[in-house]
Amino acid sequence: MRENTRNKLTAYCKKIASKGGIRLKIAQLIMVVYIVVDKLLFINRYAIARVCCAFLIILTFLSEASFTPMKFDDGSYDIDNYEELVKLDSAESQEEEYLITEVTNEEDIANLDDLVNNVDVDDLNGTEGVGVKKDFDKNDWKLLLVNKTHTIPDDYTFTLGVIKGSMKCDERILKPLTEMFEAAAKEGVNLTVVSPYRDLSRQEYLFERKMKNYINMGYSYIEAYKVSSQAVTVPGASEHQIGLSLDILCDTYKNLDEGFGDTKEGEWMAQNSYKYGFILRYPSGKEDITGIMYEPWHFRYVGIDAATEIFENNETLEEFIERL
Ligand code: ZN
Repeated sequence: MRENTRNKLTAYCKKIASKGGIRLKIAQLIMVVYIVVDKLLFINRYAIARVCCAFLIILTFLSEASFTPMKFDDGSYDIDNYEELVKLDSAESQEEEYLITEVTNEEDIANLDDLVNNVDVDDLNGTEGVGVKKDFDKNDWKLLLVNKTHTIPDDYTFTLGVIKGSMKCDERILKPLTEMFEAAAKEGVNLTVVSPYRDLSRQEYLFERKMKNYINMGYSYIEAYKVSSQAVTVPGASEHQIGLSLDILCDTYKNLDEGFGDTKEGEWMAQNSYKYGFILRYPSGKEDITGIMYEPWHFRYVGIDAATEIFENNETLEEFIERL
């Protein structure tokens, strides 16, 4: 009887193990559990009770660890000490997650040709004149501040325009973006868009995946939340979700890292993007203000007037809005 059960189970496990991957792991687990139980069964019945208790305790612990807090409609989490968590965040936090920092998938890259071919810029509003009006309005969509303490307003809406395929951004910035790429190309600077608009579900996915990784590593929920928010923007707090931010690289440098700032293209963007309404959103040396590490690839549209002031005063969007 015992022999028979063992043979059947072994055959079954061999069958599923042969399929490889996760099934191999499951088969191994079944065999280990079977061997332990089988041995104990013939040694001491009390030992089984003890093993079962230990197993239940481990199971309870695991279910506690994977507890997910209540989530509101806007994607934010029901955590009482959120403000505390924000304070705990180090200045070295990164705006978004790139498990693979090199962008090589052609579908995720758009260059000037893509922009010109796909964007019907004649139908869209162009860039406004430089220095025409300087009365800034805090409620202007161009100046919407989004960071860890200023999440996207529930009623904020905008229309998406297509850059290329599934790559999208707020349609109002397509024309200035194209103009900027054209101006750069005239100077031999060939830029590419690698990460434009990202919807909330994608942001949530990235965040939750990071949380799960930490929880699996043994972190408590709160600890996992804290460290995840340093590596991935908390859902609702990413500028990419309002379609006004773009990650920009070039053909010869496809890594989302500090090195892009030293390339010809990175330098051109840092020095010229303001002329088209874009600012280097997370500059070096301003980490304590933005709460985000230096990101030479991340540009935010704020309009030419604001971008010019921010550039000339060597400010961040936070500082600019503060003094309005
Ligand atoms: Zn970005």
